[in-house]
Amino acid sequence: MIAETHHDEVAIQGGPLPEILLPTNCPGCGIALVMDNLRTHNYVCTECGHHFRLGADVWISLIADNGSWQERWSDVRSHDLLDWTVPKPYQETVERLLEDGLNEAVRTGTCTLSGRPIWLATFDFGFVGGTLSIVAGERLARGMEQAAASGIPYILVSASGGARMQEGVLALMQLAKVNAAVGRLHSARVPYFSILTDPTFGGTAASLALVADINIAEPGAAIGFTGPRVIKQATYADLPPGFQSAEFQLAHGQVDMVLPRTELRPLLAHLLEMYR
Ligand SMILES: [Zn+2]
Repeated sequence: MIAETHHDEVAIQGGPLPEILLPTNCPGCGIALVMDNLRTHNYVCTECGHHFRLGADVWISLIADNGSWQERWSDVRSHDLLDWTVPKPYQETVERLLEDGLNEAVRTGTCTLSGRPIWLATFDFGFVGGTLSIVAGERLARGMEQAAASGIPYILVSASGGARMQEGVLALMQLAKVNAAVGRLHSARVPYFSILTDPTFGGTAASLALVADINIAEPGAAIGFTGPRVIKQATYADLPPGFQSAEFQLAHGQVDMVLPRTELRPLLAHLLEMYR
């Protein structure tokens, strides 16, 4: 399907990547990490291929053409509607994360990729585990509805623990809402590409992340619904080797490809060219 790619014509990242906090040694192979070296390889270990987790700001820099990002609805914020206090007050958690410079578990906006306009939404695992909240669902659904109306392709990057328990059933309702919005993309025949990164679990995996036209997983990413520890406790069963890895999901037909991060942007540029 992708025999005639133009990888040499598309940069592996849109703009300079922000620095991220890294351990001193790679958890995959143990080598000492060098920030500049990792940044030029999209935070993939050059020795063993370990893919480090990225926040939304890095993903935006990686995918969007330099200077093209226009964020939408960043002023739509989460509030504690259920007086949630366990293990700590939800409102305090949200305010602390905002002070740390994070803005919700999903950020969305428009940009170009290799000169072509796209809608882009990225989960941020650093914000309450990348959980699907009322605000996250609203940002996702609004972007998809506008993409469907304008015919602009939609790209999602997921890293999520599932629905946000601090918002209870109101968070669970977002699964249905975002899936209805995905349906609008499909009805309008607007391309939808999903990139599943480590980890993508729960309601996010069970709703929008695995129902794109093409589902692309990062090597080694953990992808599933319920985590293996809980499944083991409930079933007393031995789980197969590699259970819930990206490679396991590829072998079982849940994702369409497992692709190294350094090849992602050229592939997306090629897909946008194919689907225009
Ligand atoms: Zn390594």
